[in-house]
Amino acid sequence: MKKEKLNLKGLSLEELEEFVLETNEKKYKAKQLFIWVYKKGETDFLKMTDLSKEFRKRLKENFWISQIKKVKTEKSKDGSIEKFLFELEDKEKIESVLIREGKRVTVCLSTQVGCALNCSFCATGKMGFKRNLSTGEIVDQIIQIKKYLSDRQDVVKSEGFFETLRASHKEKITHIVIMGMGEPLLNYKNTLKAIKVIHSKLGLGFSVKKITLSTSGIVPEIYKLAEEGLKIKLSLSLNSPFDHKRELLMPINKKYPIKEILKAVKHYAKKTDQRITIEYVLIKDINDSKEDALKLSEIGRGIPCKINLIAYNEVEGLGFEKPDEKKVTDFKDILYPRCPAVTVRKSKGEDIKAACGQLKVESK
Ligand code: SAH
Ligand code: SF4
Repeated sequence: MKKEKLNLKGLSLEELEEFVLETNEKKYKAKQLFIWVYKKGETDFLKMTDLSKEFRKRLKENFWISQIKKVKTEKSKDGSIEKFLFELEDKEKIESVLIREGKRVTVCLSTQVGCALNCSFCATGKMGFKRNLSTGEIVDQIIQIKKYLSDRQDVVKSEGFFETLRASHKEKITHIVIMGMGEPLLNYKNTLKAIKVIHSKLGLGFSVKKITLSTSGIVPEIYKLAEEGLKIKLSLSLNSPFDHKRELLMPINKKYPIKEILKAVKHYAKKTDQRITIEYVLIKDINDSKEDALKLSEIGRGIPCKINLIAYNEVEGLGFEKPDEKKVTDFKDILYPRCPAVTVRKSKGEDIKAACGQLKVESK
């Protein structure tokens, strides 16, 4: 029964407007509905009290609003990272991660169940590809985590921990990174629509400066994204400056070699008037040599970018190791100041396997 109705979560404002006009209602009602679905995260039409009773009844008869189900949360020992396991309508599972760093509260979103690109070092890649997430499923990860944060604050309040309450009361998601499970540019349509909802003031209201999309380098879609006029931040997972090595780490490099990718991200940077981020995961004895660093700095000097180094998070069974701290520092010292902006990202959440590239769920 439920399945025959149309799911409103995932529709754009324009689509809702179309539908509202078709039902002879005033266009502005679509805005109200949009706010209820995304900003307020409501799933029960009867609770949408600023809509007329009759309209609510009609909505209930013809539509439904999906919701992903939070089945597990885990917190890292230091409390800065929380990992969420969500179950989808078809029982597939995905993970999202909440990362606290100072005043920054970032949510890392998944866009696919698994990933088809099979990068040799990545846990998600080893799951294989199951399916794309719908727009609603992508956006819902934020809606559910927002709910979780506000519900938890209510619990704190009722227990009377005023200090904790003061500290956590204002906890709001400040940044969104599309860097969880999957390759977002291979689920282009749904991801883009989700980004528009996440950005919309009537939806989740995140400025484009707070939204980052990470890609392994899907060249045609990078050009396409540059034309959308959205100006979200773009992060490229480079991981090796040499084609022969990158191919072994990231097989997609055979289709889109480094030169082509760099041309595309350069175009993106120009078109959106911003620097891109080059993500570089340092893997012991694989891509952490002086030669790698020198070649990477050459690349870094050629495009407006910031280079983000991260030591590999070990994944059981894959056989890759993280370099020791000195190696990471040495690598950075070669890059900087040859490249003006280089950061070393501290990896967190390893104890709950919530760090980059450790996201993986068991098959249903
Ligand atoms: N598919 C997209 C987005 C998701 S992967 C992409 O590849 O960019 C997110 C990031 O995690 C990528 O930068 C990837 O290089 C990194 N990553 C994957 N496995 C990792 C691991 N085991 N340790 C550290 N980073 C990893
Ligand atoms: Fe997919 Fe990104 Fe993992 Fe590669 S690194 S397998 S592209 S999720």
